[in-house]
Amino acid sequence: MRPDILNPLFAEVEALKGVGPALAKPLDRLGIARVLDLLFHVPSGWVDRWPRDELMQSDVGRTIAITLTPTDYRTSSSPRAPTRVVATDQHGNTVALVFFGGGSGRVRKLLPLNEPRRVSGRLDQYGQDLQIIHPEVGGEDGDFREREAIYPLTEGMTSRRLGALVEQALARAPDLPEWIEPSLKAQRDWPAWREAMTRLHADPADTVARARLAYDEVFANQLALSIVRADTRKRRGRALQGDGRLRDLLRLPYQLTGAQARSVREIEGDLAQSAPMLRLLQGDVGSGKTLVAAMALLIAVEAGAQAAMLAPTEILARQHYETLRRTLAGLPVEIAVLTGRDKGRAREATLMGLADGSIHILVGTHAIFQEAVSYRDLGLVVVDEQHRFGVAERMLLQAKGRTPPHLLAMTATPIPRTLTLALHGEMDQSRLDEMPPGREPVETRVLSEERVDEVINALGRHLSEGKQAYWVCPLVEESETSDLQAAEARAAALASRFGDRVGLVHGRMKGAEKDAVMARFSAGETGVLVATTVIEVGVDVPNATLIVIEHADRFGLAQLHQLRGRVGRGGGRSVCLLLRGGSLSETARARLALMRETNDGFRIAEEDLRLRGAGELLGTRQSGEAMFRLATPELLSELLPAATDDARLLIDRDGGLNGARGQAARIALYLFERDAGVALLRSG
Ligand code: ADP
Ligand code: MG
Repeated sequence: MRPDILNPLFAEVEALKGVGPALAKPLDRLGIARVLDLLFHVPSGWVDRWPRDELMQSDVGRTIAITLTPTDYRTSSSPRAPTRVVATDQHGNTVALVFFGGGSGRVRKLLPLNEPRRVSGRLDQYGQDLQIIHPEVGGEDGDFREREAIYPLTEGMTSRRLGALVEQALARAPDLPEWIEPSLKAQRDWPAWREAMTRLHADPADTVARARLAYDEVFANQLALSIVRADTRKRRGRALQGDGRLRDLLRLPYQLTGAQARSVREIEGDLAQSAPMLRLLQGDVGSGKTLVAAMALLIAVEAGAQAAMLAPTEILARQHYETLRRTLAGLPVEIAVLTGRDKGRAREATLMGLADGSIHILVGTHAIFQEAVSYRDLGLVVVDEQHRFGVAERMLLQAKGRTPPHLLAMTATPIPRTLTLALHGEMDQSRLDEMPPGREPVETRVLSEERVDEVINALGRHLSEGKQAYWVCPLVEESETSDLQAAEARAAALASRFGDRVGLVHGRMKGAEKDAVMARFSAGETGVLVATTVIEVGVDVPNATLIVIEHADRFGLAQLHQLRGRVGRGGGRSVCLLLRGGSLSETARARLALMRETNDGFRIAEEDLRLRGAGELLGTRQSGEAMFRLATPELLSELLPAATDDARLLIDRDGGLNGARGQAARIALYLFERDAGVALLRSG
């Protein structure tokens, strides 16, 4: 249960004065639903106002606050023309105050002739004269703040408006007990939570206040991970000791890479312990994670347990199923697949097999942890592309075992070192930092989209050599529909030239349809597969050695890297063509150049973080919710070590959440909404 003290912060913004239907929309667009969202909507910058007695040339470009007396109005017969108010300072210098739109009546009321007013705005030079466009006008004695916060905005919202709402939110904010370790707080000279919040909104340049608030967020995150970790470790799982009898039967056409062998040893070591494994296997696309997973699954089966493998999409689930069946062919191991699409008799049969233990390995989408699915003895869960799943979903699956099963999570999204601890601090890490031999790096070229005809010609030559290709369509907007239209249009255009050798797959398709398209492509019946980003993860067709990505500048680097990883899987040279729009920002240019320069996913991840910030990287990770709202990448890497130590200290020495500081820390968990996974785990 959320501590009562937080109730005012979790109240809806509608509870604040002046928040009606007109503001509801812009607030919603800014992601502000509750009072605490307002507080966490921290300023992105500020303006300084220079208090002045006299108008001065040297202030041009600055925002000033000054007392002026209006002496004349200059209006025009055209209603479109601006209203100009001539005003003088106490030394007789003049300035024109310019108002566009709305006619002169309002302006005359606001600035009556010969009555001094405090006025503020940016002083500009207009020909020989000084002017201020749309100045703010205070009352006779009303003055302006010297520093005013600038907030990230949307249409229908101004910084002033937001500032006023934040003020109300601050007035409601309670004093919260301190969760930061006292010596750390003293050493950093950090204020208490509420004071820090107040200070940051009053002065966005207050780095001490900002750091404290960012620390709270990172601390809550690390604490949640530490609790998950400690809790998992405490639970008695079941040691799975494989005897090698199944693995010995494997006939692989190649040797494990050093990194694969090392990872398998690490996993084997974990499985042999009774404390459940919590391990993350990181490896770039094509580094061979599936084989490592297969070995882990076999160890579990050798030890007499069942194992499940969870994939984020239908396509991937089916593909893993096929791969495992091929790899484990001839072994006395029963494998089944279960997705949301499997219904009726087949599904019943699978459920029976799981319950009576005749199915050893189950592959599927999250359908595999629905209520109805019960296992005789689930010992290991492998989660592929684990960033697609939240902590909560992983926990649910773990709750399926009689004893908590071991967990192996896999990700092909290389994570910058600085972020690994924040994202996966609860897990041990294995890295596949070595590619299987014989891989040639994908050759990447960046082309203007105006050259699309040339690209289509090149595609024609490619197809006539019997090779296959992907054509990825742009992410037009957030909306799936517009993505789809773009993909359909492209598929139609290509089909007019290449006929039925063009396939189309997109997220709106039904499962069976999707599989059929994929199957035709895998079998080589179609030559080019037009796709929205559904092919992003995992799909493996070695004969596809060309990938064209339209509007590449609209994708994140990590995503581009994933997409590019669809080719270069079969040995032989592969090519990636990135089509870019006409006008590119510096950053977009730099990002595409990096793609051309390197195939190293870890390096791309580090650069992506540097060029773009952690927002997107982190934002997509936890079921679409931004993971850190206050901690910028810089603050995150600066504060992470202390926050991690502090969280562990609290768990190991200071009595966990039950001690005095723990009670306060519990509040931090709720404040930053890191309670879900923890609660689930406790009840599970
Ligand atoms: P990912 O890590 O992206 O999931 P996969 O497991 O799909 O990578 O492996 C990519 C390709 O590399 C597959 O075709 C697989 O058969 C092959 N592969 C895996 N391990 C090795 C190895 N040790 N030697 C050669 N090829 C390998
Ligand atoms: Mg994979």
